[in-house]
Amino acid sequence: MPSPAEQPDITSLLLKAISKESIFRLVNILRDIIRHSPEGRKIASKWLLAAKDDVKAEPVPTSSTGPVTSGQLSKEESVSEPTPSIPMTSCFERCLYFLEKFDVTKNSATSCRYHVDPDMVDEEFFKDEIIAGIDVDNEEYREAWPEKFFYTCCGRDLVEEVCQVGWHKVAKRPSKRVIPEEVRWG
Ligand SMILES: [Zn+2]
Ligand SMILES: [Zn+2]
Repeated sequence: MPSPAEQPDITSLLLKAISKESIFRLVNILRDIIRHSPEGRKIASKWLLAAKDDVKAEPVPTSSTGPVTSGQLSKEESVSEPTPSIPMTSCFERCLYFLEKFDVTKNSATSCRYHVDPDMVDEEFFKDEIIAGIDVDNEEYREAWPEKFFYTCCGRDLVEEVCQVGWHKVAKRPSKRVIPEEVRWG
């Protein structure tokens, strides 16, 4: 039996072990750490949470409350050292438009570029293929003829500028790919 001095240190053993694990087991291990270790909760908060005060979203037109002046407290500190007194929220959300992930603290009026409606194939241009029963409504054709697919919102094709620039909006529908709680493993 090797003496403790001959053992590689635990950190490098763990780092090696992590690279061999499945994402499902790693998620469960992370949940375990968060439940049982205050230090683990602190580190996870830094990566995954943001102070609610730091969330930036499209301003909702309100009645006559007037503009809210910022600079209430030192936000740098509140993010790095989360405490129960500071309301926290998820740092990353999925955007309604393309379901891309975005940082809620870095959202702005020009963060999201998108079309409102989906693109449609130019049926006139591809009429021979369509008559022949070839499915042209796929990624292959979009790549080969990007100027022959039009967005119904603005009539622009795939190589032109998007028609909408605005704030990312949080998608309300939860992701279907959520890993279930308490997946048993032994
Ligand atoms: Zn458009
Ligand atoms: Zn977006």
